Amino acid sequence: MIFGTIIPMETFTRRENDLSNAEGYQFEFLCDLCGKPFRSRFIPRSSGIRDNNALGRLWDAALSAAVDECRPRLRQCRGCGRWVCADDCWKSGAVRCGECASGRRPGVG
Ligand SMILES: [Zn+2]
Ligand SMILES: [Zn+2]
Repeated sequence: MIFGTIIPMETFTRRENDLSNAEGYQFEFLCDLCGKPFRSRFIPRSSGIRDNNALGRLWDAALSAAVDECRPRLRQCRGCGRWVCADDCWKSGAVRCGECASGRRPGVG
């Protein structure tokens, strides 16, 4: 269930999935390069709240908590600004993603 439009967050992955339902909130952030998903932990929603504004605020809070939780598992490339997974797409020791490090940046060259 979505209570508002997802505001694109410049500071994090370009793709995210809202997995929230009537029971609670959960989000999934996808690596900008390989699409590997990183899921936040499920935050149960207290029952009995029917006010849409209150629900919207809970959703916002859950989303920012989810970002905080998943952000350490991804790295932001200094070259293209994308967030890529630390495991596969990040070149350790560099400050760029694998794609920038290898010069295969889309739209360039
Ligand atoms: Zn990746
Ligand atoms: Zn890059």
